[in-house]
Amino acid sequence: AGTLCYDTFVSNPQREGLRERDAILSFWRQAMSVAEIYEERATFSFEVFPPKTDVGMEKLCGTDGVLEKLYTLNPDYISCTYGAGGTNVGKNREVLDKIQKDGKTIHVTHFTCIGNTKEDIKEKLQTYLDHGINHILALRGDLPFGWEGTNGDLHYATELVKFIRQEFGDKFTIAVAGSPEGHIQCRSLEADISFLKEKQDNGADYVISQLVWDMDQFRYWLDDIRAAGVTMPIDVGIMPITTISGTITNALSRNACVMDRKLCEIISKYWIFPNPYDPAPFDADAEQKKADFRKAGLDYTIELIDQYRACGVDGIHLYALNKYDDVAYIAKNAGLI
Ligand code: FAD
Repeated sequence: AGTLCYDTFVSNPQREGLRERDAILSFWRQAMSVAEIYEERATFSFEVFPPKTDVGMEKLCGTDGVLEKLYTLNPDYISCTYGAGGTNVGKNREVLDKIQKDGKTIHVTHFTCIGNTKEDIKEKLQTYLDHGINHILALRGDLPFGWEGTNGDLHYATELVKFIRQEFGDKFTIAVAGSPEGHIQCRSLEADISFLKEKQDNGADYVISQLVWDMDQFRYWLDDIRAAGVTMPIDVGIMPITTISGTITNALSRNACVMDRKLCEIISKYWIFPNPYDPAPFDADAEQKKADFRKAGLDYTIELIDQYRACGVDGIHLYALNKYDDVAYIAKNAGLI
């Protein structure tokens, strides 16, 4: 009956009207899990973060806010990050509750091991389920400055995935992180790949990758994880390139992500003197260069997406950074919609 209904309404949009089609598509998205969508086709999704201030919350979640604009691009899911220590868990749930209530797309929460006992994890995950949130990105988490470990009962994402399956069976669809260049703390790329396989063996459903601009490395990693028996769908995490300082910070602050020649050339071409971090640069062309860099960076991001899709990846996950315009430009011009 479901297939019949889908065929009738979705394949005949002219007859039934676009609004009905959108309503059915939205219903379908809510009823399906992300893992089930991968069985049929590639996905396209966004990531947002919980704002710290009420003004930020209003901009993201208010009427005509960023979330409502993002829905118009028809993403398969929207995920919301989780502060490593769980400090913003209230706002994380507020954002997810809003997406759940709106019913336009699947909502995925990020969750980390940082500072959590097993009891904490059970309680928090049960609360997510009680709120209708049944998709989770299971992470170790970024260690807060000065910490050596998670200061919790679980130390790695492998353990978190296993624990979720033990305690909650199949109630959650579980995504995990993958690092095509190797996680910054891994003892080797090979060891990191074996832990990714362990996440799969423990019950993970799909992978969202850490940002990577080095396409040769990405292809190498993709071949290697497949050879190691990782069959999970790969959803590629993509950061829109919009500012020089943001790009450099993203590359170096946490991940030590390699910048390819093309990206370096764009940065060099629009370099702001004395440096792009200077709040009052003496470079007379600074404003024009910022605008030109943004355009070049967004076009670079689109070309990157072309290359990922040519590798046969299963999804494109855009870090929206709680903004609409940049990801809308990328999604439209990369043909993701
Ligand atoms: P793990 O897979 O546990 O790996 C951590 C390190 O330990 C690696 O070096 C790995 O090789 C090693 N390792 C793994 N398993 C074992 C094992 N069994 N024995 C020994 N060594 C092992 N962070 C947040 O705090 N909040 C977020 O919302 C968030 N969202 C993210 C979204 C995406 C798409 C991605 C890719 C990352 C996100 N992160 C977030 C960052 C993530 O938490 C960090 O990259 C973190 O440092 C590692 O998390 P992980 O789940 O990859 O860790």
